[in-house]
Amino acid sequence: MEAFRKIIEVVEWEAFHKDRVESGIRRMLGRVDVVALHFLENCVSCALCKTACPYYYVDEKYSPVNKAEEARKIYRKELTFAGKLLGPLVHARKPGSAEDLRRIAEFAYACTNCGACYVTCPFGIDSGALINHIRTLLTATGRVPTILQAFEVAEISGMYLEIPGLMQAWDEVMKKAAEAIGRELPFDREGAEIMLFPTLIDTLFTPGAVVGAINLLTRMGVDWTLPSKPLGIRPPIATVIGDAEGVKTQLTKIHEYLEKMKPKKVVLVDGGFVYPAMRWKLPTVLGTRPSYTVLHIVEVVHEALKKGGLKVKTTDDKVTWHSPCQLGRRGGVILEPEEIMRTVSKGYRQLPHHGIRTLCCGGGAGMGCMTRDMHEMMGKLLGTSLYDLIGNREKSFLDAAEKRYKLSIKRKMDDIERSEAEIVVTACPVCIHTIELGAQLYGPKVKVLHIAEYLSEHLEE
Ligand code: SF4
Ligand code: SF4
Repeated sequence: MEAFRKIIEVVEWEAFHKDRVESGIRRMLGRVDVVALHFLENCVSCALCKTACPYYYVDEKYSPVNKAEEARKIYRKELTFAGKLLGPLVHARKPGSAEDLRRIAEFAYACTNCGACYVTCPFGIDSGALINHIRTLLTATGRVPTILQAFEVAEISGMYLEIPGLMQAWDEVMKKAAEAIGRELPFDREGAEIMLFPTLIDTLFTPGAVVGAINLLTRMGVDWTLPSKPLGIRPPIATVIGDAEGVKTQLTKIHEYLEKMKPKKVVLVDGGFVYPAMRWKLPTVLGTRPSYTVLHIVEVVHEALKKGGLKVKTTDDKVTWHSPCQLGRRGGVILEPEEIMRTVSKGYRQLPHHGIRTLCCGGGAGMGCMTRDMHEMMGKLLGTSLYDLIGNREKSFLDAAEKRYKLSIKRKMDDIERSEAEIVVTACPVCIHTIELGAQLYGPKVKVLHIAEYLSEHLEE
């Protein structure tokens, strides 16, 4: 409990501290590169992006352009001549009160960074990226959800490795996986072809996916290994709260381990933000070209099926594929899972919105973490009553965020209902959790599985 109190000393949901706001603005504007400059400068306010957003259906004020405007107001005030001179006349303004920060936090935490607005905008403007910049400002001012702050510090400091509840979950999944393949797991082997990279969240939320991925690699007969200890809670979790320095620190640690182990390929189980972070961001953030290639398990399986290295039994399951936004739309892995699903099931059907137009489930970028249930579950694992550490102002924020999150799922569930699927297969632990929650709240009563678990159950004897 004491350790967590220290971790969250920086959390501040009540007051307005001018110095922290100024420092947050500097950090936020420090992230403006030539690409972000395009996002900031070239929006024409046509609002074509609004219907792409899962949170627009919760309330029209959460349209991508409206939320990103909070970043633009600050940018204009600080970095444009007109904004400095004319201020509010040209919509240039810095946050000046606790109420301003409250509104900004409400907007920043009504976004999953799904990228649907990005691919809809005729000018390629990524409002989700700008909303993440606003989170950078908020984190510096202390308006950061305690649960996310605790995860970030625990991950970067390595403290998660000392928390019995978390490590027990990891060990149990590894034990199950060893039983499934009938031999000891090949931990920390140097020079293997493949390094499987499960995160701690994979073992907590989707243990079947980790066991399934291990089973698939074993059946492929490839030379593989995996870390004996998790390389993070869900690394780099700092990305969720817009902490660019934290992202760099965590990616550096992971990269050092991987360079030491020298695998040819690093294979992820998580198809959420871990995928674009490891595959696309890491080389830019660290300014290096890794000696390994990062792939998702779905890409490895796709290749193995094509080359005959893996054989599956076909079924008639009424099954569909939900493409996680970070693996599909942002990560570029769109065709492979659909081809696999078609191979496995004659009853496979696409969702009405699929591929790059897949509807976001509503749970990404920490949105699915802000429920009361999640605080209780994580509190138990962390060995502390997380919810009791939170002040009343943050509790009101969390209550509202939970309502928004639960409403945002409805649109996805309607899409699933239209497909008449009975099983939803996907690849991200948060998508799985969110669609399961959606099935309870709204129906249809679908079964939701990670693709590694689903395929592992459909292998030829
Ligand atoms: S971000 Fe793009 S689609 Fe959205 S309002 Fe601006 S220009 Fe239009
Ligand atoms: S990234 Fe997704 S959730 Fe965020 S504003 Fe754009 S469409 Fe909405």
